[in-house]
Amino acid sequence: MTKTHCPYCALQCGMEIGPGLAISPRTDIPANSSGALCQKGWTAGELLTNGERLTAPLLHGEPVEWDVALDYVAERLAAIRAEHGPDGVAVFGGGGLTNEKAYQLGKFARVALGTSQIDYNGRFCMSSAAAASIRAFGMDRGMPFPITDLAEADVVLLAGGNVAETMPPFVRHLSGPRVIVIDPRRTQTAKLAWLHLQPTPGTDLALALGMLHLAIADELVDEAYVAERTTGFEEVRTALASWWPERVERITGVPVYRMRQAVRALAAAGNAYILTGRGAEQHAKGTDTVTAFINLALALGLPGRHGSGYGCVTGQGNGQGGREHGQKADQLPGYRKIDDPAAREHVAGVWGVRPEDLPGPGRSAYELLDALGTPGGPRALLLFGSNPVISAPASEHVAERIASLDLLVTCDFVMSETAALADVVFPVTQWAEESGTMTNLEGRVLLRSQAVAPPEGVRSDLDVIAGLAERLGHRFDTEPVKIFDELRRASKGGLADYSGITYERIAAEKGVFWPCPEPGHPGTPRPFLDSFATPDGRARFVPVQHRPAAEETDEDYPVHLSTGRVLAHYQSGAQTRRIAPLVQAAPEPYVELHPDLAEQLDISPGDVVRVSSRRGEAKAVARISDAIRRDTVFMPFHWEGANRLTNPALDPTSRMPEFKVCAVRVERDS
Ligand code: SF4
Repeated sequence: MTKTHCPYCALQCGMEIGPGLAISPRTDIPANSSGALCQKGWTAGELLTNGERLTAPLLHGEPVEWDVALDYVAERLAAIRAEHGPDGVAVFGGGGLTNEKAYQLGKFARVALGTSQIDYNGRFCMSSAAAASIRAFGMDRGMPFPITDLAEADVVLLAGGNVAETMPPFVRHLSGPRVIVIDPRRTQTAKLAWLHLQPTPGTDLALALGMLHLAIADELVDEAYVAERTTGFEEVRTALASWWPERVERITGVPVYRMRQAVRALAAAGNAYILTGRGAEQHAKGTDTVTAFINLALALGLPGRHGSGYGCVTGQGNGQGGREHGQKADQLPGYRKIDDPAAREHVAGVWGVRPEDLPGPGRSAYELLDALGTPGGPRALLLFGSNPVISAPASEHVAERIASLDLLVTCDFVMSETAALADVVFPVTQWAEESGTMTNLEGRVLLRSQAVAPPEGVRSDLDVIAGLAERLGHRFDTEPVKIFDELRRASKGGLADYSGITYERIAAEKGVFWPCPEPGHPGTPRPFLDSFATPDGRARFVPVQHRPAAEETDEDYPVHLSTGRVLAHYQSGAQTRRIAPLVQAAPEPYVELHPDLAEQLDISPGDVVRVSSRRGEAKAVARISDAIRRDTVFMPFHWEGANRLTNPALDPTSRMPEFKVCAVRVERDS
């Protein structure tokens, strides 16, 4: 039996892999110590034996030897760099890559390719919450407390998260507190809640402002906490003046008495948490929306107290570690900023290069994809752990941009929709075929141990990086433990300091919380108890204002579209859409709409429905449900279609696209 973790979401449930790839849950990992796994976890072994696995590199669709493919890519990269400069080559990573891969990818881009053009699909997931946490607390560690703390709380407010479907074992941590859910749909999580607030899509920010307005008006603010541990409250109080509850009710559709019920429950609780998920974050105003919820948490005195706080429920498997070690456009390892001279000097020293030779910040994920093949944009793209043809907003446009490249290289285990467009596809290992560390949604660094050998012909992403680096004149390690040791040195002194963490410690201690700056340091489960990571140690209130969605409904596109996940599938579905029990559970995309809207549009359950936006069109089967608002339809995004419709309008701070709301027209397909 090999002790490891699930290949999918950020809960990173502990599991054991036994003979015949039999999977069983571990009970020594707090995230799922109840012995739970979801259906995705139970069936994960089938990923490894999937009949569609690639076992040889493909060059223009034909199987070739590894050396042939690596030589071809290295020669093309050198030629493209010579013609277009270093930024003619771009790199796109993923939030499912191990810390070692994320680190090595950032180093490869900056050192071996010399390009500033690197970003990753985590920009589409947690970046708004990360930006809001950094400006409020000086640091982003998704949930800055162990997940087991939630069970001790009296009240938990979850804004825009559907954990009952996305990570079901999470729900066991919510069995103690009264749960308040904010979501335009009555999701599986909302059905479990004590109170469900159902706002119009795109209005969570107004709702949070209205709730804080009520907290102030009803004298529920923890004045002593605000005075002692925060700055900026007066500016926020002033900025809130116009967000009186009746106005907020008109904008959001949430009755004032419901808002008051929620605020009073939070304020009366001895211990309470406010959590945000993608529903609140994936907006062109996602950073401000999360900031408004953090402002509410600060006014009620929650963050930095044992038993209370604010947290972001990170989604992707290594969504936390993936945003710490250098695959983001503006970042160096240890959660350092790439434009910080001290950070550049430290990391350049570890990498053995001159600080002035490191490129500066590059384009964010969507901006990078949008620039591919354009004048001044990258001409080549190396893609690791991502399937943007399905998962990027305005995905038809993104596919066109990708098709215009001179060179597309992907690392994949099967022929994903994006790999199908590639000049070269490298067949790479799956999670149980290699070792590496993952940092889960709590900021706990975990060890995934290799359980089985990969199929013949399959190598790790780390081998691809090292093979290309060697051909470009650089020596890169391929052993995860050696790369982790280098990552520890590169992160030393940074916000996400891993320097005291070793594989041995992780295995012995069932995970170690960062920051962990010394070998003897116990790790930091609750980093803000004494002070926040700001220069003065206080959390910062930041005044924010509501504004409409980037695209509002009108005569031509009269209905809101919201997108999200279903239990059986993960992200773009490249993995889960190939596992028979998961396909059986959720075989096809669908459009969920309210019975009143269905009647108005003459749509019956099972009809094929055409959904159109200003960017494209998608067809899916109708599901009629009163769990959704009359003015909104919902589509899961695990299949091709939903993201043809979504709006790439970007948050000005986080550069997060507005996945969660756009305007569509819905018709029965004749
Ligand atoms: S997908 Fe998430 S919730 Fe399900 S078993 Fe894996 S880690 Fe746990």
